[in-house]
Amino acid sequence: MVSLDAPITELSGAGPKTAQYLAKRGIRSIEDLLYFCPASYRDRRTIKTIEGITEEGQVQFVGRVVSAAPALYRTTSRRGYQALLEDDTGRITLIWFRRLPFLNTLCRRGNLLFVSGKASRYRGGLQMIHPDISLVEDSDEADGLLVVEPVYPEVEGIKQGNLRKLVATAFEGCGPSIRSYIPLEVEKSGGITLLGDALRSIHFPEEGLVLGERTPSLERLILEEFFLFQYALLIRRGQIKKEKGIPFVPHEVRHRRLMEGLPFSLTEAQERVFGEIEADMRAAEPMNRLLQGDVGSGKTICAAYAACLAVDSGFQAAFMAPTEILAEQHYGTLDRIFAGSGIESALLTGSSNAHKRDILEAIASGAVSVVVGTHALLQERVRFRKLGLVIIDEQQRFGVIQRKMLRQKGLNPDVLIMTATPIPRTLSMAVYGDLDVSIIDEMPKGRQPVRTKVFAEKERGVVYRLIGESLRDGRQVYMVYPLVDESDRMELRNATDMAEHLQKEIFPDHTIALLHGRMKTEEKEKVMEGFKSRATDMLVATTVIEVGIDVPNAAVIAVEHAERFGLSQLHQLRGRVGRAEFASSCFLIASGKRTQAAAKRLRVMEETTDGFRIAEEDMRLRGPGEMLGVRQAGLPNFRIGDIVRDGDIMTRARKMAQEAFLQGKPEETQKTKEAALARWGKRLELYEVS
Ligand code: ADP
Ligand code: MG
Repeated sequence: MVSLDAPITELSGAGPKTAQYLAKRGIRSIEDLLYFCPASYRDRRTIKTIEGITEEGQVQFVGRVVSAAPALYRTTSRRGYQALLEDDTGRITLIWFRRLPFLNTLCRRGNLLFVSGKASRYRGGLQMIHPDISLVEDSDEADGLLVVEPVYPEVEGIKQGNLRKLVATAFEGCGPSIRSYIPLEVEKSGGITLLGDALRSIHFPEEGLVLGERTPSLERLILEEFFLFQYALLIRRGQIKKEKGIPFVPHEVRHRRLMEGLPFSLTEAQERVFGEIEADMRAAEPMNRLLQGDVGSGKTICAAYAACLAVDSGFQAAFMAPTEILAEQHYGTLDRIFAGSGIESALLTGSSNAHKRDILEAIASGAVSVVVGTHALLQERVRFRKLGLVIIDEQQRFGVIQRKMLRQKGLNPDVLIMTATPIPRTLSMAVYGDLDVSIIDEMPKGRQPVRTKVFAEKERGVVYRLIGESLRDGRQVYMVYPLVDESDRMELRNATDMAEHLQKEIFPDHTIALLHGRMKTEEKEKVMEGFKSRATDMLVATTVIEVGIDVPNAAVIAVEHAERFGLSQLHQLRGRVGRAEFASSCFLIASGKRTQAAAKRLRVMEETTDGFRIAEEDMRLRGPGEMLGVRQAGLPNFRIGDIVRDGDIMTRARKMAQEAFLQGKPEETQKTKEAALARWGKRLELYEVS
């Protein structure tokens, strides 16, 4: 019997050429081929004759190409493609408004096509716009048709019929040796379909199969895939825990006093997170903790607390933020908190800084114990004497390698990473499975939810009026634009022009300042300083203000071209206001071409201020990678599962993996471990989070 790991060429009927073509699709072993799932099925039970086609819903039929040619549509002057198909009962025209490269090949005269799509009538004739088509090989017809036939994703160089044959051969040869890595007891207690049965019904669907997005068989395969992934995460996590870290010993009196000096009392959630951080830091293993908390929930103070614990034990802490503005702000906050405590802190950013050399020396000698900074912290010449804690704010802004670089400046330091992009639970399981997660799920007392309203371009006057009212009440305002100046793109309103326009024409009695990423650091600092000290009433800015900026008196934020922003990003922006007891508002102006659709999407912002709900919605709309802004490492590349659609299965897989990890019999566990590492080992190293 052929082994599952064997290369494709071991299959009879698969030569080196075939193997080459399959390899382009990532299919190398026989097992890979078995996991190559059909993209769809041709369900012959629902095939219609052309005569029987109605305009309702999706229909499927088989027809022969009578003629086909590129077309030019005069009404839209668009280049497209048309094909005329017939069967014994009638004729139908297929229409594309694009010239797709495969059309010429598939629509060759005389070809038999399987077509699926929505039909309509046009000038008495029957037509279908942008249908799905695939070639029916004459041999298929001769072979006697499967009732429900799998259609595999296109593999260059290999016909559907041959793909089906290859899979069948693989299944015949290896069917008996397919086994699940989910230990039998776990599999049984889960009451799930056997893996072999699932694969069989995926590739050889029986009559009566319900064609849906997620059949039980598909779910079973996804479960298998997620299980191995979760198992690999558990192995990795075990490895991290085994590394020797620093058992910090907190200096109770000092940090009590620090906390008592705060102008507010901590929320329960903050207290809980303090406890979690402290327990981690006391332990001998390195901390590897992700702190999630909605914007304004008060994460910075948690960072300060952790830094304080590190310093208590004679170590240094590094606190890295994605922008200079933010680094400065954190530095200011920490400096205030640490005042009089004897904890020395310093700021290190990329911009020229007169005392840079002194600061570097102080870091190297240990004279400075807490260093706040930007990417500049990663530079070679930044050397710590005894770095014991690494804190990273807004972690999604940094790449994996950058996080690792900072960590390597210490000796297995504890790591605390913070994010204000609430990640849906299931996604965080996939992305951060090897991290401990703390969540601040409570806002400081006295905050009022930000009132949000979506406006169309023509309602701009209303927005200006509302802003004017707030300004007269003594509040400050942010006005956000997607671009800096006109050269970026003509039709968009831009920050530079609008700052001038607003100052001159709309709010001449108030002071307006401009802030964008291309300004020099000193300029930016000056502008921020002016806004913080209330010398400026309105800040016209690009998204540089998106992360973290904290000016409690700012009560209004208006976002222009809101349709160009992701929901999570808008939520971040909205988090700039509502930071004090004042009623605050967020105005979203949708002014693009497709304003209607955009406004609909933006309504979510009106409905909820729950960052988790917004994140889920955003993930559905834009996909997880885009939403997280994941760089470098990206998301795990699952063969079958889909993190967004299959979150529930991920949860199950995680439970099963934990069970198997803890209770599995050694011989079984060994095999699972090998398989998990073979599939995910390299990958996990890559996206090691800290
Ligand atoms: P984020 O989680 O977005 O980083 P910050 O740490 O910047 O939030 O905190 C937002 C604001 O809330 C700051 O002005 C901070 O001083 C204040 N704050 C933090 N914790 C509390 C609390 N428990 N009670 C009142 N205000 C708080
Ligand atoms: Mg913050």
